[in-house]
Amino acid sequence: MTQARGADADRGLAAGLERRGFLSIGGGVLAGAGTLGLLQGADRPTASTAVRTLPRIYPSDPRYATMRMGFNRRWVGSPAYIQVVRNANQTLAAVQRALDARLRITVRGGGHCYENFSSGNHGGVIIDLSGMQGVYLDRSGRAVVEGGATLWNVYETLFKDYNLALPGGSCYSVGAGGHIVGGGYGLLSRLHGLTVDYLTAVDVICVDRHRTARLIHARKGDPQTGRLLWAHTGGGGGNFGIVTAYYFSRLPSPPVQVRLATTAWPWSGLDAASFATLLRNYGRFMAAHSHPASPYRGLFSLLKLFHQSAGQITMITQAAGPAFGLLPSFLAAVGRGVPGGSTTTETLTWLQATQTLNGSGPNQRGKYKSAYMKTSFPDDQIQAIHGALTDLRFTNPQALLQVDSYGCQVNVVPPSATAVAQRSSVMKLQYQTYWTAPADDDVNLSWISRFYRSVYAASGGVPASNRVTDGCFINYPDVDLPASWPALYYKAGYHELQQVKARWDPLNIFHHRQSIVPAGQRS
Ligand SMILES: Cc1cc2nc3c(=O)[nH]c(=O)nc-3n(C[C@H](O)[C@H](O)[C@H](O)COP(=O)(O)OP(=O)(O)OC[C@H]3O[C@@H](n4cnc5c(N)ncnc54)[C@H](O)[C@@H]3O)c2cc1C
Repeated sequence: MTQARGADADRGLAAGLERRGFLSIGGGVLAGAGTLGLLQGADRPTASTAVRTLPRIYPSDPRYATMRMGFNRRWVGSPAYIQVVRNANQTLAAVQRALDARLRITVRGGGHCYENFSSGNHGGVIIDLSGMQGVYLDRSGRAVVEGGATLWNVYETLFKDYNLALPGGSCYSVGAGGHIVGGGYGLLSRLHGLTVDYLTAVDVICVDRHRTARLIHARKGDPQTGRLLWAHTGGGGGNFGIVTAYYFSRLPSPPVQVRLATTAWPWSGLDAASFATLLRNYGRFMAAHSHPASPYRGLFSLLKLFHQSAGQITMITQAAGPAFGLLPSFLAAVGRGVPGGSTTTETLTWLQATQTLNGSGPNQRGKYKSAYMKTSFPDDQIQAIHGALTDLRFTNPQALLQVDSYGCQVNVVPPSATAVAQRSSVMKLQYQTYWTAPADDDVNLSWISRFYRSVYAASGGVPASNRVTDGCFINYPDVDLPASWPALYYKAGYHELQQVKARWDPLNIFHHRQSIVPAGQRS
């Protein structure tokens, strides 16, 4: 998919927004003379005309069973209806319609949320942006990504049309809608930083204290909207409004070619000591080679520590740019003293590699937890990881701890410059387990909780910010986290996010189980 049907219409809308600052439905507010104002005349949508033509899916509709579910089969909503939107005007009208009917609004981009934040709506409306998948350059050369685009829409179009890349996630069915506002990262992040490091504006539909929906063009550095833009650089989805378009400036070009390596270590050849050697090798390598100037900055690796019942541990590594020729030295350093490893390598063009590495997998049930790591693994953590992965009272070959490399260019940006506060980590950890039968929920949920608590036993069962760990990733939300979740996700930035929330969503219209609480209000 390249450009969506609504792209032309929205290009005109975006230009209108640039001139005017925001548009609103239902009349209301003029925020400052000259630059900000209401969209007038023919541009101005009305709820009756814009919404009437939209696909609205009610429980009696054969599509409802599909459309009420997230990518994770654990998430099944029961909304009054699901509204698919195809451009910003329609989204604005859909929001106003729901507000007028006093229906709770839930936002869905790609539907890949790890928790029930984009399908968990009962009796309200899910506004589904999957009809808005346009990707294009605007007149000032900014790359525009509509709020319902998938990462594959973004990668393919930016590459084929403009030779540009967004350093986003590896799984290309993920939606840009939630991914970017959560501070998404991926295989180009050590080389080029995070998606949000290039984000200079968003079009976002907010609701003011008079229950009027307004489309705001929030720009970096703008005195009125700059903090709203900042909140979208890692504040997380479903918090401030509905992003209909993301704008990026100075995106890099992707590497022409990359080297890919897949390494496997059979569990049968690993004992506790050699498993520890593998983790130490990997962690120490990342701690030593995650400086922004490191020649290894073009290398990104995903170490997948599968449960023993899977039979093997695997590691996928992409080497690009300055690291293209350094793959053998990395593989040698990680594999030193670890028996049984075997590797296959190949050279691919960047887009081919991106397609090859797509790890979206099938729709299943899943549970996830996360941690940022500032150092290599301490011995107590290695022991706990080994214990959980070799606990054969639980057998699931789809249960794993994935250790992603991190750092380099990610850590060039100061912690307060974006809402992603963790800017000194060298690895990012993702605890995962997948299954299909609802009857297996309990066994999987309790295994992953025990696993996580045991690894962070020394810091209260969570990866608190300290010398070794630095909290959790909002794009991997976890409702089991204790009441300290705001500090784990956002560190000191939470206070500022609460101020932005109070300013731009004072009625807390956009909320879910771990959404930002407006300053001055109780959760
Ligand atoms: C298979 C898979 C692979 C992944 N790989 C990576 C990875 O490599 N790197 C990484 O950083 N993350 C990764 N993630 C996590 C992913 O970034 C988040 O789950 C992300 O929030 C998904 O966005 P979405 O639009 O698909 O999800 P949704 O479920 O639609 O939304 C997630 C949250 O964002 C909100 N939201 C969605 N769209 C908008 C919008 N337009 N405006 C405002 N709020 C919105 C929703 O309300 C919800 O709160 C992966 C997830 C999965 C399932």
